[in-house]
Amino acid sequence: MQPKSNIVHLPVYQPGKPVEDVKRELGLTEVIKLASNENPFGYSEQAKTAIMEELGNLNIYPDGASVELTAALADKLGVGTDQVIFGTGSSEIILMIARAFLVPGDETIMADETFAQYKHNAEVENARVIEVPLRDGKHDLPAMLAKVNGRTKIIWICNPNNPTGTIVSRRELGEFLKQVPGNVLVVLDEAYGEYIDDSEYPDGVQLLQDHRNLIVLRTFSKIYGLASLRIGYGIGHPDVIRFTNQVREPFNTTRAAQAAAKASIGDDAFIAYCREQNKQGIVYLCEQFDRMGLSYFPAYGNFVMVDVQRPSPEVFDALLRRGIISRARWTYYPNHIRISVGTREQNEKFISALEQVLQEETVQG
Ligand SMILES: *Cc1c(COP(=O)(O)O)cnc(C)c1O
Repeated sequence: MQPKSNIVHLPVYQPGKPVEDVKRELGLTEVIKLASNENPFGYSEQAKTAIMEELGNLNIYPDGASVELTAALADKLGVGTDQVIFGTGSSEIILMIARAFLVPGDETIMADETFAQYKHNAEVENARVIEVPLRDGKHDLPAMLAKVNGRTKIIWICNPNNPTGTIVSRRELGEFLKQVPGNVLVVLDEAYGEYIDDSEYPDGVQLLQDHRNLIVLRTFSKIYGLASLRIGYGIGHPDVIRFTNQVREPFNTTRAAQAAAKASIGDDAFIAYCREQNKQGIVYLCEQFDRMGLSYFPAYGNFVMVDVQRPSPEVFDALLRRGIISRARWTYYPNHIRISVGTREQNEKFISALEQVLQEETVQG
């Protein structure tokens, strides 16, 4: 057997630890997972109804082109139906973009600490990954621009950035897009965009008219709370969407996912509720970090990256023994953990566990 030489060294994706594993391994009855930026408030009741109505059709292939969902979403966003593509999460859109645009030797530019799937999929295609250091946890757009050359195919911008939670502003992104050559594709990942109501935060969809080389990624996994159904989407110029569609699997998204997504985009009240709860959660967590003298990056999504002032694997393990699953081991932030915003009760339990952990003289590993 001879696999592609460039994939042999690739790590298998390490997800946040599942609650069940932690309960079993540590003999705990209550475990709180704040590791994968999932929605602690569930998902829309209307989505639940829509899924149940689909249960009678499991023997029928889904509509590969997601025609009804596409129409509903395009209408909501004010774009053409030829400007939308669905994937099994926006992760699959990332995969399709890499597959459609990158050949070995192409260069692709991204931040050094960002969503891992950009680099992973670029490496599968044997493209050259150019990583540009974040500045104060933020994308350094001028530095990224300076790396563009004749071999550059794709630039990835995660806004807000996972894991740091920072955003690039409307003005910064506008300046950047003006200068990126038209033959370089810019991927703007807005997985957490619905959480933000800040006039500084640019709405990628509004930028599409002026920038044919832009594709915006969004997902139903985060604020919509449908992570297990695996559905996300890309919005872009019809040409970009067509190329991406050309490498899409015929029946990638399921009937249940399409139906739930369509119902969810009609339930603005649920989204508004989650946005408000999340905002209160961020305020609470940041107040507590301030009180404890811990610094953190400005948090725009549903997670906070906080400096715990000691090696993060130790803090991760100590929190785990207290039933809290966090995310640690960041390459460029060895003393930070990323914590998802939970319910009020979960946030309080996390803070009290963190306080105990940090008060211990030495953390046992
Ligand atoms: C969670 C996330 C995604 C997409 O997740 P899917 O479940 O595949 O839709 C994409 N980008 C970022 C930055 C994320 O955090």
